[in-house]
Amino acid sequence: MTEHIKLFTPGPGDVDDRVLEALSLPVMRHYGPDWLPVHEEMDALLHKLFQTKNDMYVVPGPASAVLDMAIGSVVEPGKKIIIGTNGYFGTRLIDMAKAHNLQIVLMEAAWGKPLEPDALSALIKENPDAVAFAMVHHETSTTVLNPLKELMAVAHNAGLVTIVDTVSSLGGVDIPVDDWHIDLCICGANKCIEAVPGVAFISVSPHAWQVIDSHPGPGSWYLDLKLWRHYLQEWGSWHPSPVTLPTNVILAAREGIRVILDRGLKEHVARYTRASKAMRAGMESLGFEMLVPETYASPIATAVKARPEFTLDELVKWLMDTHRIAVGGGLGELTGKVIRVGHLGKAAEREYMMDFLFTLEEFLRLKNIPVQSGKWVAGLFVE
Ligand SMILES: *Cc1c(COP(=O)(O)O)cnc(C)c1O
Repeated sequence: MTEHIKLFTPGPGDVDDRVLEALSLPVMRHYGPDWLPVHEEMDALLHKLFQTKNDMYVVPGPASAVLDMAIGSVVEPGKKIIIGTNGYFGTRLIDMAKAHNLQIVLMEAAWGKPLEPDALSALIKENPDAVAFAMVHHETSTTVLNPLKELMAVAHNAGLVTIVDTVSSLGGVDIPVDDWHIDLCICGANKCIEAVPGVAFISVSPHAWQVIDSHPGPGSWYLDLKLWRHYLQEWGSWHPSPVTLPTNVILAAREGIRVILDRGLKEHVARYTRASKAMRAGMESLGFEMLVPETYASPIATAVKARPEFTLDELVKWLMDTHRIAVGGGLGELTGKVIRVGHLGKAAEREYMMDFLFTLEEFLRLKNIPVQSGKWVAGLFVE
């Protein structure tokens, strides 16, 4: 068995032991009477988690595959999509739209700043022929949480199909998919859902289906929503998916969602809020500066800036070499300029947070930086 590294990365995160136990169950057939009860329970659990009545699909693969599937299934080559981008994962959506030969209208905000609903209104006026609007909710590269409800209201009122990457936010913040008019909502299993990587989830609204049905053909065989609907509808009583499913990974995801719903979705979300407040307060008391102001910082991960006394590479290496602690580095234009600390899974537990902040204090002392010992503890008790 490999040595355990404590994950403070903004995905993947360390998961509950119940989730790991589910992985070691015998392999099942992904069809027939053994699997159908699992399929049905997953479907019910996901509807609760996504707060939606829309169709739900569980697709083997990374979350990116399902984002690719959403964009490629909705917008025909040559047609227009508005893409909101303010970070690394927003750039990914652009690359996906390019791969599908779509006409892209960019709505940009600076990295570290949120997307603006007014900017979206203006772009929609200039582009009445746009079919869809895609965006990232929690831009994990900067830890900015975009104003999803407001942006969805603008896009929905204009009749656009809304495609939202909630890969690192669903489960960690409240996202009422139907109330906020998210036509296609995409999430992976190993961020705030706190299961293991390997499957991703997508909800599809009736409005999205209308547009998908007018798409002349799939841009992919596997990543076509119509294929998945066909299997669910035509084969649902025996074999509800077009491919062999990673049954253990799905059992682990089921367990992860059960853990969340046993705890209560509201409490699961509140746990992230508490953890992020504690971590911000703790790290500020150790002299770190936050990249993102609290008003639009996500409660899922915290980004702190580099400081003059040491390089972040040195800190990251020391955390790993001496304490087996992993944090996230900067991505894209933030490489070397920030580290990102996730509050996913066990990283939100007091024991993990104490360990992390104690270890940071130790590092600062080794660097002869004056620290008030244990001052960060106060942060662990903020409400
Ligand atoms: C992690 C992440 C992804 C990519 O997920 P994969 O499962 O690696 O494909 C996409 N978007 C956001 C916002 C993420 O945080």
